Amino acid sequence: MSDDQVTGWCMKCKATCPMVDTTEVKMKNGRPAMKGSCGTCGCGMYKILSTKK
Ligand SMILES: [Zn+2]
Repeated sequence: MSDDQVTGWCMKCKATCPMVDTTEVKMKNGRPAMKGSCGTCGCGMYKILSTKK
């Protein structure tokens, strides 16, 4: 699980960027999401995780 690169859409870069400092969070509607910072510009970004399993 070490090199599990998380990427997300950065609104500032307008591109898909690697996410750093990722934390798994749960949104109010109970959906899992990933919170982190853009590895390129450092701004905060969110990624909604698809419910698998
Ligand atoms: Zn960015």
